[in-house]
Amino acid sequence: MRYLKLLSLMLSVITISGCSILQGEKLLAPESFGLTPVTLSIYVEAGADKATRIRLRESMEKAEGAIRMAYGGVASRPTVNACITEECYESFGGGRGSLAKVYGKHILLSPRALNWHFLAHEWSHAEMSTRLTFFAWKLMPQWFDEGVAVAISEAPEHSESHWQFLVATHVPRPTREELQTLKSLKQWLDAIHKYEKWGQVLIIGI
Ligand SMILES: [Zn+2]
Repeated sequence: MRYLKLLSLMLSVITISGCSILQGEKLLAPESFGLTPVTLSIYVEAGADKATRIRLRESMEKAEGAIRMAYGGVASRPTVNACITEECYESFGGGRGSLAKVYGKHILLSPRALNWHFLAHEWSHAEMSTRLTFFAWKLMPQWFDEGVAVAISEAPEHSESHWQFLVATHVPRPTREELQTLKSLKQWLDAIHKYEKWGQVLIIGI
C-alpha cells in the first residue's frame, strides 16, 4: 500500500511540481518584493486578510509538529513566503502548473497551497537537506525524498482514495519499477513533465 501511495504521489506531485529549484533570489528579501511579515518566519503578500494570516500561522505550527513527529526533532527553520495571487507566485518563479516550491530554506506557496499539507511537504525537503551533507543529499534517490515529504504532508491529493481514482479513471501512471529509476532531481522533473498532461487533468479531477 505504501508503494501505491508513492506511485500516487508521482502523479500528484505533478500538481505540486514544486520541489524544484526556482529562481528565488528574491525570497532572500521578501519585504522588498511585496511581501509583509506575519511572524519572523512567515511572509505573505501585501493585502492578505486577517483570516489568511491566522491560517498561515496555524499551518506553520501544524507543519512543524508533523516534521517533529516524523524526524524526531526539527533541525531546519525555513522561511515561508505565501502568495495570495498568481501574479505574486509567478514573480517569485512559481508556475501555473505548480502549487509550492522550496529553494534551500525558503518555501514559496501559491494561492492554491495555503495549507499545512504543502507547507509540511516543502519543509520536509528543507529538513532533509539540512540533516544531510551535500554529497549524501545528492546520493539520496529523489523518489525517496519525495516519498518522505508526501508521507509527512498527508495531503489528500496523495491519499489512497486518490490513487484509486487514478486507477479507476485509467490515468497513465508510472510503474513501481519506473518510479525507482527516478534517482536524480532531473530525472524526477523529466518524469513530471512526461506525465504533466494527465497531471493537469488530475487537478480538475481532485
Ligand atoms: Zn516534493
